[in-house]
Amino acid sequence: MLKERVQSLKGIGEKVEQQLNELNIYTVEDLIFYFPSRYNFFEHKPLHELAHGEQATIVGKVASEPVLSYFGHRQSRLAFTLMVEHIAVRAVIFNRAFLKKQIIVGEMATLKGKWDAHRLQLTVQTFERGEPAQTTEIDPIYPLKNVLTNYRFQQFVKTALEAIHTSIKEILPINYLTAYKLPTRFSALKTMHVPESPLHLKHARRRFIYEEFLLFQLKMQLLRQHKRESERGQAQHYEPLLIQKFIDELPFTLTDAQRKALNEILADMKSPYRMNRLLQGDVGSGKTIVAAISLYASVTASKQGALMVPTEILAEQHYESLKQLLGHKINIALLTGSTKEKERREILQQVANQTIDLLIGTHALIQKDVEFAHLGFVVIDEQHRFGVEQRRTLRQKGFQPDTLFMTATPIPRTLAITAFGDMDISVINELPKGRKQVQTYWVKDNMFERVLNFIKERVKQGEQAYVVCPLIEESDKLDIQNALDVYERLQQFYENDVNVGLLHGQLHSKEKEATMQQFTSGKVDVLVSTTVIEVGVNVPQATIMVIYDAERFGLAQLHQLRGRVGRSDLQSYCILIADPKGDTGKERMRIMTSTNDGFELAEEDLKLRGPGDFFGHKQSGLPEFKVADMIRDYRALETARKDAIDIVTEDLLNRDPDYLPLKTLLESDASLQQQLD
Ligand code: ADP
Ligand code: MG
Repeated sequence: MLKERVQSLKGIGEKVEQQLNELNIYTVEDLIFYFPSRYNFFEHKPLHELAHGEQATIVGKVASEPVLSYFGHRQSRLAFTLMVEHIAVRAVIFNRAFLKKQIIVGEMATLKGKWDAHRLQLTVQTFERGEPAQTTEIDPIYPLKNVLTNYRFQQFVKTALEAIHTSIKEILPINYLTAYKLPTRFSALKTMHVPESPLHLKHARRRFIYEEFLLFQLKMQLLRQHKRESERGQAQHYEPLLIQKFIDELPFTLTDAQRKALNEILADMKSPYRMNRLLQGDVGSGKTIVAAISLYASVTASKQGALMVPTEILAEQHYESLKQLLGHKINIALLTGSTKEKERREILQQVANQTIDLLIGTHALIQKDVEFAHLGFVVIDEQHRFGVEQRRTLRQKGFQPDTLFMTATPIPRTLAITAFGDMDISVINELPKGRKQVQTYWVKDNMFERVLNFIKERVKQGEQAYVVCPLIEESDKLDIQNALDVYERLQQFYENDVNVGLLHGQLHSKEKEATMQQFTSGKVDVLVSTTVIEVGVNVPQATIMVIYDAERFGLAQLHQLRGRVGRSDLQSYCILIADPKGDTGKERMRIMTSTNDGFELAEEDLKLRGPGDFFGHKQSGLPEFKVADMIRDYRALETARKDAIDIVTEDLLNRDPDYLPLKTLLESDASLQQQLD
């Protein structure tokens, strides 16, 4: 029955079937799992307890003949009087003239609708003859996109529920139902469509929330296990002593959090499993060095490493700093879109014969003709900037290399375990010692000259500043014009006291490189820039970050930008120039000035923007749930994740007959099976 077309149901013909198809409802099963998006609660209360504007149920005796009148373009109004507790209430029904026959003077009637306490009037949504059975009535409202009326849809669902009778089997093992006091699948399903009481509804929703999360997390855990185990025999036999020596030579000692993350990575490398790990850390927490040590470890195991980053500036900078750290030990090369053809050919050859141990670059790394001899370790920095395809292509270049993804911005835990549920996660949750908190201020545009004078003072002390220009969406040209304006304004203001540089997306990469180089070496004191410097740039002498029109940036981006300063033991400042009109903008400024903690900020950002927007408009990788909401129901999400991990690690799907229905369901998921093959 479940898999049959909806047309097999009584009362559903070809036309309705087509309408239902528009809602992606094809089978009876689709229909009964098409859940209401919300519910109207009608509570039967005494008149004097009804609030103005409230959804209400009133019961009374029809006291006057209904009067039908027409107005506008085929609009109708039915009006009559209802005696409720000796009070005459006026009832109005719009556009349902056919109800006139059912309104009979002297009969009891139950009306639901919106209560107008001033005029003692009810705008009727539903009219029923007789008295109601319950004190609270709950009306499910379906998301029907004007394809069908809610009332008709309700009738179809009821027909379907009767038709399937009890053919809905439980899929959750009984121990979960008892442990979490969840109703069975069939009873919860009925309640979703025809709730007996708010409490029943709450439990039914709880059940489906858990079910959705558990199934999702089970898929994630199965994928994770599959990725780990699909290619055994790739253990990397690195040289612990060489690695230790390298760590000892660093100009600083690793933080505990860095060491922990590194150990997790090394353990993965040593294991015969393929690593698929996300490294999360706040800006400035020192992810790069952890990646560098891991890459080096792989080279000591006679493999090659690759580091892919989203921009040329960042590639260039990683190349410089890794060359300084590792250049005397291993061969490092840089490959970007602007590498000259002759040089490029040379590099490709050396990558293919393993003369080059570590290749750093942009998208250029995933071109077809880039072939590694023994790619063992891949790092993808600022992973959110790359699409799924690009990430996969790079991984495929080696024989299942270990892969480390790094994110620039901390991701709230709920999102991390949903969007990256199939990965292992390492977190660097502390900053290197001695870092001073960046002081953040929010000022209006009319303070700009004071800001410029402040910068001048700091520059005299040998410090440097960034000035980030307003970002104009969808217009590179305007972006650049803005940057040019600010650049000129600064040059005029400073005359020859302060050297100002300019960086924007349309410059040639050689020019960008040169400007960046001048800034890094201190020849340029103040760098005016569009957001190209957003990610990763590391110039420790820079202590001031000015962000123009800060309200136009998201919190994550602002925090990224702020992360460009505070990279030494000097006191750093972040100055947000903003005049936000809306509440969200003001709230963002408030949050920015109140915390420096990226993880805390990420949680706030998530609350402000919602999960869909959090990762920006590129593929978010977030699943869609019918009933569950991963923010609101995060506790259920965590529980489901724990249960899913247990189920997969203990192999219960295969070992315990109670889990057979779950197993069968997962096996019928085509996209999951495809990924598991
Ligand atoms: P991010 O995590 O934002 O990528 P980076 O890796 O760029 O951070 O590191 C920021 C700065 O901190 C770099 O200059 C780096 O050399 C320095 N750094 C990294 N680890 C430590 C440490 N344990 N102690 C002191 N400085 C460190
Ligand atoms: Mg970084």
